[in-house]
Amino acid sequence: MKEIFIEDTLKFINKRVTLYGWVWNFRDHGKLIFFDLKDRSGILQAVIDSTNPGFQILKKSKYGALKVEGIIQKRPENLINPKIKTGEIELKVEKLEVLSSSLIPPFPLETEGYEISEELRLKYRYLDLRRERLFRNLLYRHKTILFIRNWLTERGFIEIETPILTKSTPEGARDYVVPSRLYPGKFYALPQSPQQYKQLLMIAGFEKYFQIARCFRDEDPRGDRQPEFTQLDIEISWVEDQEEILSLIENLYLDLVKELFPEKKITKVPFPRLKYQEVIEKYKTDKPDLRENKNDPNELAFAFIVDFPMFEWKETEKRWDAVHHPFVKIKRTGTKKDLIEKLEKEPQSLFAFQYDFVCNGYEIGGGSLRETDIDILIKVFEVMGNKKEDIEKKFGHLIEAFKYGVPPHGGIAPGIDRFLMVIFNEPSIREVIAFPKTGEGQDLMMNSPDNLDEEKLKELKIKIID
Ligand code: ASP
Repeated sequence: MKEIFIEDTLKFINKRVTLYGWVWNFRDHGKLIFFDLKDRSGILQAVIDSTNPGFQILKKSKYGALKVEGIIQKRPENLINPKIKTGEIELKVEKLEVLSSSLIPPFPLETEGYEISEELRLKYRYLDLRRERLFRNLLYRHKTILFIRNWLTERGFIEIETPILTKSTPEGARDYVVPSRLYPGKFYALPQSPQQYKQLLMIAGFEKYFQIARCFRDEDPRGDRQPEFTQLDIEISWVEDQEEILSLIENLYLDLVKELFPEKKITKVPFPRLKYQEVIEKYKTDKPDLRENKNDPNELAFAFIVDFPMFEWKETEKRWDAVHHPFVKIKRTGTKKDLIEKLEKEPQSLFAFQYDFVCNGYEIGGGSLRETDIDILIKVFEVMGNKKEDIEKKFGHLIEAFKYGVPPHGGIAPGIDRFLMVIFNEPSIREVIAFPKTGEGQDLMMNSPDNLDEEKLKELKIKIID
């Protein structure tokens, strides 16, 4: 295992070091070869002279993986390169070993990479990821998640994993399904979110839950969407006011930005809480870009959009659908009887304790207080077009669980990918995910989705119809 990364070499002037990395840039000056040695932390100029046995080996091994020993020395004043962190020093190579040779990469790795076709970049993603920009994105993704985990843990939250092989939970998209070998003809669904599990964890008494959760949604692809994505999933019991959740998130993001992205300026604190209807009227969108200066790459305009309508009309399906999901608590204006009547006669008039979290014109999260009155919940399922027997089949487990002392609860789920995309002003969430799918939902490196062998199809009792 390596002990010294290239960025540490500044501490080793006039000392002997052993470094590992790739040959990055190669400049043959006849008697001397200059090359940049690269590892994940940066690059360092190295120089080897023609009397060294490593000289000939190096000539043949551009881009190869190297082990190099030598002395770190100061560069003469006139050869200092202010553009790189190690620009004042270089490595005088004494011993050089090629640990493995390399083909010439199919595209430049020293650039930001935006100029290269994305298909090619994704096919050779393991090379694309050597790019400094992508390393930074993934490093800060790690730091962001670590910060969130620690911050919530310090405040009494427990991270709990929920199943990936599960049953459909409606979040407004199609499910990805997995055939069951043991129960031919039956399917698991991949979770569109851990929504029902996290609510069940509230009945189970965990009170403050979070999870860095993978979600799967079969939607038409877009730049800020992927078939699978990661969200910070949160659920809290004994919540009586949605403001408790909003201020928790506000404090988390304020602390996170201050710690990890101090160069960012937040437009307004506290984050504005804006009513959905007013926002739609004023900005014609429910995710307004509230930055004061849209040319400033370091401005973050967070806001919460609150008071969403509960239902929207789906013309294609000729039915009412929940704007967010069916588990949202509806705002009361009269008695329970009034509410049931409104659900039956004018669902469009109902508003919900539902909020979106937006930043710079992107929706970076959403959540709600949850409905815990079983009669209302069943009515909501009915309004959405479910028949009685379907409700039992799809949601019977949740309705049953709600009979055992369900605490008032609510939650939210900010997206990790979209937040990082905004932070780094990236054009797509693919730039902050290690191995994303293309815009068309393919993994070009692994070549998936792919066919299944006859044998496996048989085992699953699945027939492919042309
Ligand atoms: N499950 C919701 C979502 O993924 C978030 C929530 O309501 O907590 O959007």
